[in-house]
Amino acid sequence: MKVLVINAGSSSLKYQLIDMEDESVKAKGLCERIGIDGSKLTHKVPGREDFVVDKDMPTHQTAIELVLEALISPEHGVVSSVDEIDAVGHRVLHGGSVYTESIKVNDDVKKVIRECFDLGPLHNPANLMGIEACEAAMPGKANVAVFDTAFGMSLAPYAYRYAIPEEYYDKYKLRRYGFHGTSHMFVSGETIRYASLPEGHQRVIVCHLGNGSSISASVGGKAVDTSMGLTPLEGLVMGTRSGDVDPAVVQFICDHEGISVDDMLTILNKKSGVLALSGNLSSDFRDLSSAAEGGNEKAQLALDAFAHKVEKTVGGYLAVMNGADAIAFTGGIGENDCAMRAKILEHFGFAGVKLDPEKNKVRGERCEISTPDSAIRVFVIPTNEELAIARETVRLS
Ligand code: ADP
Repeated sequence: MKVLVINAGSSSLKYQLIDMEDESVKAKGLCERIGIDGSKLTHKVPGREDFVVDKDMPTHQTAIELVLEALISPEHGVVSSVDEIDAVGHRVLHGGSVYTESIKVNDDVKKVIRECFDLGPLHNPANLMGIEACEAAMPGKANVAVFDTAFGMSLAPYAYRYAIPEEYYDKYKLRRYGFHGTSHMFVSGETIRYASLPEGHQRVIVCHLGNGSSISASVGGKAVDTSMGLTPLEGLVMGTRSGDVDPAVVQFICDHEGISVDDMLTILNKKSGVLALSGNLSSDFRDLSSAAEGGNEKAQLALDAFAHKVEKTVGGYLAVMNGADAIAFTGGIGENDCAMRAKILEHFGFAGVKLDPEKNKVRGERCEISTPDSAIRVFVIPTNEELAIARETVRLS
């Protein structure tokens, strides 16, 4: 069975064709500048040179048509006809409180995705365009929506409700949703399998640390808490996002600088985080680490603040679950930044966590990095959201 995985953004569309026999990626690529001058498709097939098409893509529909042409092209393709694609899986940001798991797309599903435009204004409209483009280009083929918010739907009300007047929850469904859900679902499941955690001992903390970062706590693969909120802005210090701040900061800056709340949210999303703490040096942890090693105090402050917030969150989740059986690191930083992992885990000696410094040298590969006598086992588990979406697509189509 071959599954096409689509991640549609407002002006871009990423895709992977995955052969589910062995879960290998047959081809992947990116359409850029959809609806803007100078659109381009870059199509990659393992072991071959990239195939680049500079062609106008006024709509997502034209982008999908170009992707299908590339996939079946005698020269650059990997299948002989579109019939060889069995189903399509779509990353969809927001399913509101309606969808607690992935679902095969029908008119009701599209209606809910549309109703959630308010909650995911940058992503949901594009996600729906991606689905409708696939329906038009491949009529009759199953489309499956995999929601980034679904994993957070198992939270109890005391974990997802904001302590603000009830009317805002009733009227607008303002609550903590949690994002990166597909990654947290995948990594918590893979950790349980890889570690062979027995039933009743499947309390897992997943630290997804990348440009966007979030942490989840789950029991038996079901989330009990997650650090992102109504939007991905809540929680950890991130590359350019502030994470938690006192909301009074927003009012103070808006009043004193004469800027709007919208402007302030742009600052909190795009100009804050480690980028801001490092004095605008960089949002990239490789740059920050080398600057800190060279004595740059602001870069060191950024790294310290990032680690501090991760430690507080993991510590909080240890309390929430009355302990943990495994901690898994994933995302660009979690998978590759050995020094940051060691810095964070130093704080969990009280809980009996023992890191094996040799094993902790691993980058981008699955590995248990704790010692055999560690009270909580610690792992590096690379995330793979596309594969998670493809597996959900197989399960539901
Ligand atoms: P996104 O949220 O955009 O998917 P990623 O998960 O790709 O982000 O993570 C990007 C971050 O991972 C960057 O800050 C980058 O510096 C960091 N990173 C990637 N490789 C390394 C490495 N070898 N050492 C330290 N940090 C790394």
